[in-house]
Amino acid sequence: MTIFLDLAGQTATAFNNFDIVSGQSGGVGLLDVVGDATMKQLTYDDVSGQLPTADRLSALVNTDFGAPIIVTALNGGNDPYKGNDITGNAQAYTDHSPGHLVIRIVYDVSQCCGKGIVARNINGDNITVPNPVLLYHEMAHVFLEVNHQPDVEATVIGDENVLRAQLGLCLRNVNDHEGGCGDGSDCGGSDGGADSGPPPGGCAAGTTTVCFVVSAATGSPQSDEVHLLRQLRARVAARSLLAARLIDAVYAEYAQFSPAIANRIEGDVLARRAVLLAVVRPLLAWYSLAGALAFDGRGDTARRAARVLANACPRYVGNALLVEVLDSLATGRALPAAASPLLRGLGPELRTASGLRCARWAVFDPLVRAWRAANGAHGGHGAHGAYAVSVVEEVGQWLSQAPFELVPAIAPRDDGVTSSAGASDEDWLALAGLYGFQPAALRALGTRLAAAWPQAGAMLARCGYL
Ligand SMILES: [Zn+2]
Repeated sequence: MTIFLDLAGQTATAFNNFDIVSGQSGGVGLLDVVGDATMKQLTYDDVSGQLPTADRLSALVNTDFGAPIIVTALNGGNDPYKGNDITGNAQAYTDHSPGHLVIRIVYDVSQCCGKGIVARNINGDNITVPNPVLLYHEMAHVFLEVNHQPDVEATVIGDENVLRAQLGLCLRNVNDHEGGCGDGSDCGGSDGGADSGPPPGGCAAGTTTVCFVVSAATGSPQSDEVHLLRQLRARVAARSLLAARLIDAVYAEYAQFSPAIANRIEGDVLARRAVLLAVVRPLLAWYSLAGALAFDGRGDTARRAARVLANACPRYVGNALLVEVLDSLATGRALPAAASPLLRGLGPELRTASGLRCARWAVFDPLVRAWRAANGAHGGHGAHGAYAVSVVEEVGQWLSQAPFELVPAIAPRDDGVTSSAGASDEDWLALAGLYGFQPAALRALGTRLAAAWPQAGAMLARCGYL
């Protein structure tokens, strides 16, 4: 008596997806919830000879785990409970908001607004992730969670492959949790007729908090810049739970000041252009470079990303005043007297922003580093090369300053075990893996975290941070 469908979402689609999961056994049903018009209860009656995925569904529907599992199927856009953008993605988590202790599954049934959602097979090729598979993956996470088993991605993807095999779809590499928007092969399998093109009612894409300023600066919630940011974020979240928690903390802070800034620049062509050139493009190029270094090391991808960053920081934009302005924001000092009227007008919002430590680290610190490196690289032919060398160093230093200690959800308890997030050594090792391009940055991070969390010293040492 545990799964409920959220009527704020695409209930009929979710119901169809559960029906596919059941093997269209005819056992799935819906009941009204007495006294609660916001959801319907999902029921499941076992039928003889049912498929393994139906057994799983039955276990989740017919066991009381002490907390309801509420499923919200969205046509893209923001998770209404957590606030983050789930376009092209899905998530399962325990919602501890006051008044609810519920487990939520929130997933995008728009197939990334018709672009498709993909994962990878063992050859690294893109394969489709139809909606029932997306849902079943999150159900597998929840199943481990409610049974107090370690939430290991490889186990979850192994479960996902059971449904994939039933539907004749390509199998996913159990050691590759990455995915995103795009086209892939379905190996001739069937999504049960559940996925066909963008939803009739359109998608809610572009409403995400992360993209307010980027959307305003680029003039569109569907711009390449917005899309890039979404993809990168999904990629980081897929690789590291702890990095995802840090990103959530950054977004929560970002949401406190970004809508006001977006409103101010929206109707002002020059302001939008200034923000695009001085902030949005360099910042996105910075994140792309950091992503390339973290995921692929110092290879060709990172070299290309460093060139893109160099091009995003042209000398005609990045003068000493810009660096001074950014530096004063990064360090919480007053703006220089020569700052432009636009910046002065944004004073209150910028002061809010620079008082928020996660946002300061995520936004102003990289901008200072990127523009300072651009100013330091001398002209002439070698300029991009010199820039690339110094900027990779800067990315390493920046990542060593990542404020994980400010993310309450992952603070280790007195016994050194990480608390509510359920983070394990495996999660800390996954995060450490992202620092492989710069071992000194990992040690600098470890030293900082050990100072903030003395109880976590043994865990940090065990996972290679010290
Ligand atoms: Zn997963």
